[in-house]
Amino acid sequence: MKMEVPAHVALIIDTLEKAGFEAYAVGGCVRDTVLGRSPEDWDITTSARPEQVKRLFRRTVDTGILHGTVTVLLAQCGYEVTTYRVDGEYEDGRHPKEVAFTASLTEDLKRRDFTINAMAYSPKTGLIDEFQGMEDLQKGIVRAVGDGKERFTEDALRILRAVRFSAQLGFTIEEKTAAAAREMAGRLSLISKERIQAELDKILCSSHPEYMKVAYELGITEVVMPEFDRIMETPQRNRYHDLSVGEHTLKTLRNVKADRILRWTMLLHDFGKPEAKLEDPDGIIHFYGHAKISAKLAKEILRGLKFDNATLDAVTTLVYYHDFPFPVSKTGVRKALSRLGRELFPLLLEVCEADSKGKNSYAQETYLPKLLKIRAYYQEIMEAGDCTSLKELAISGRDLIQNGMNPGRELGLVLERCLEAVLECPEKNTRECLLKLAFCKSDAAD
Ligand code: ATP
Ligand code: MG
Repeated sequence: MKMEVPAHVALIIDTLEKAGFEAYAVGGCVRDTVLGRSPEDWDITTSARPEQVKRLFRRTVDTGILHGTVTVLLAQCGYEVTTYRVDGEYEDGRHPKEVAFTASLTEDLKRRDFTINAMAYSPKTGLIDEFQGMEDLQKGIVRAVGDGKERFTEDALRILRAVRFSAQLGFTIEEKTAAAAREMAGRLSLISKERIQAELDKILCSSHPEYMKVAYELGITEVVMPEFDRIMETPQRNRYHDLSVGEHTLKTLRNVKADRILRWTMLLHDFGKPEAKLEDPDGIIHFYGHAKISAKLAKEILRGLKFDNATLDAVTTLVYYHDFPFPVSKTGVRKALSRLGRELFPLLLEVCEADSKGKNSYAQETYLPKLLKIRAYYQEIMEAGDCTSLKELAISGRDLIQNGMNPGRELGLVLERCLEAVLECPEKNTRECLLKLAFCKSDAAD
């Protein structure tokens, strides 16, 4: 089999081979190229030791020298070149205690997680596929290399990676591998939150974010995000819904584009529903105030998964406002803009749309026209350049001080009051009008 390999990769392999070593492109890049997808990066595996690799290339970085990885820099690109290795004993289901180099490519391929990730390729030798990775690629199957239970015991993250690859590729997890994953899922509690976050992120941003359900069925979410199990088990019986909270959530995930902030928002937006659930005597279920509870949970969950503050704030804010708790009017939209800011507001519209489209047809007929109106108001507001934030007000704190007001909390409140007035009535955003407003009201308060 012939495969298209980037010139740099071919050059690195060729250089290593000419120096008497073996070298292959390996793992994800081989898998993706066979599938006609463009690989994220190209990894190379070689019989050469790190010192030997370093001697052959002018510019290298010691990326993970203890694990045998050297990054070779060519032009502006970096390629990880890793010495064939076997992982030693796994101490704790997380880290091999030590890694040992080996002269055997087969040994190196054996330690890899799934058959589709355990193929190697060099232009001279062609494809090395010792575990029927090609067949599994064609069948659309994620299968552990060797015994699933053993492999998941060594490194429990692989359990979540199985779901991740199946979500990215639209593959099914082979039966025995799935059974092993289900049996071993509890060991995910040993894995660092950062590694869990990275895999969840990839599932959510994949073309099948709804495969979160597979993670649920395998008992994975119970360990890494038990709140997800709660929504899967919460029915909804009311005018707007014909699905459980969980199934609705999965539908909204599919309805929104593959953006990190949007996908995490959809995942978390109804996490507050199990807690807010209230059943009428006639069986109707209400979820009053659930958005607030969801926002609180979202914050805790994202913090627990070690998210950066910017992502955490954006997602939490969108979750909080996902029900658009503003009047459907120009003033309402200006208020929403001032609460969310210009960057997040357009995302809120996408969240609302995905959410509505995840409900029943009655709900869609109710909400989608409203959303159209909101979008139209938004357009008009942007075109008119209406003020929606303190920094766009025609006066600043300095103006107030120059006119005799003392700096401090009161001054901030006065500016807020000016903004509220301007959000109601954009014509009031003039110096004259706002100074009058600022001073007459505060006088009255004295
Ligand atoms: P991506 O497109 O996300 O980069 P990838 O297959 O390249 O996918 P990486 O996490 O970059 O995935 O890992 C590169 C390769 O290293 C994998 O293809 C696999 O062969 C091996 N590998 C990575 N993580 C593990 C693991 N936890 N256990 C066993 N093998 C692993
Ligand atoms: Mg990779």
